[in-house]
Amino acid sequence: MRKAKPIENKKMKEIQGNVNVTLQRLLRASDASCFPPPVLLAISKTRSAAEIIAAYESGLRLFGENYLQEALEKIAALKSYPVEWHFTGPIQSNKTRAVAENFSWVHTLDREKIAQRLNEQRPEGLGPLKVCIQVNVDREPSKSGIMPESVAKFAAYVSTLPHLELKGLMAIPEAGVADSQRQAAFQGLAGLLKTLQGPHPHMDTLSMGMSGDLELAIAEGATIVRVGTGIFGPRAKKV
Ligand SMILES: *Cc1c(COP(=O)(O)O)cnc(C)c1O
Repeated sequence: MRKAKPIENKKMKEIQGNVNVTLQRLLRASDASCFPPPVLLAISKTRSAAEIIAAYESGLRLFGENYLQEALEKIAALKSYPVEWHFTGPIQSNKTRAVAENFSWVHTLDREKIAQRLNEQRPEGLGPLKVCIQVNVDREPSKSGIMPESVAKFAAYVSTLPHLELKGLMAIPEAGVADSQRQAAFQGLAGLLKTLQGPHPHMDTLSMGMSGDLELAIAEGATIVRVGTGIFGPRAKKV
């Protein structure tokens, strides 16, 4: 079995410190809002298994990966750790089987064909795959996610698939915009969830907010925030 390469003590301490700072940010933002603190999903794309273990030892249990091949290697290396894996990257159809077999959650569902394949390929023994629909809240051309007006129809379709459990909505607002526009995007996603809760009362998840904007997302009711650099430090490659 592949063994995780150890990381130096300094890096370990840095990750522990970052986890504490991030949890403080979550609590403070939650106190300032009328919402309970969200769950912290550590986005571990491009990070080593050893860095993930450092975050695990700081108390984190949920990890998000964007790239299937590197994710599968880390999932194998961390087999003995009781962590929950979330897929947070774009999914091509030839990757659905491995996603259905190895992850507990998918945050980036935005196509019927992918939903159908994940449903067919989810192994019986694992229970339904939890999914969030990714919404293109800022209507950016060539960005992943479905347009807000198409979400209701897509949600109706996903909810007919027995091996998927429709949990909620996810968004990545446009980069580099003013806080006010970002907040409006989060507010828009929250409003959309409220509307969907009529026909789909079990939907309860708003996956929104990252290292740079988690306070804004929590103010609008984020239930899962996805934090990468805030926990692990800057990423070496731009992704
Ligand atoms: C990389 C990534 C994040 C984390 O971004 P940071 O700014 O590093 O916190 C969150 N969500 C998704 C979908 C990502 O790809």
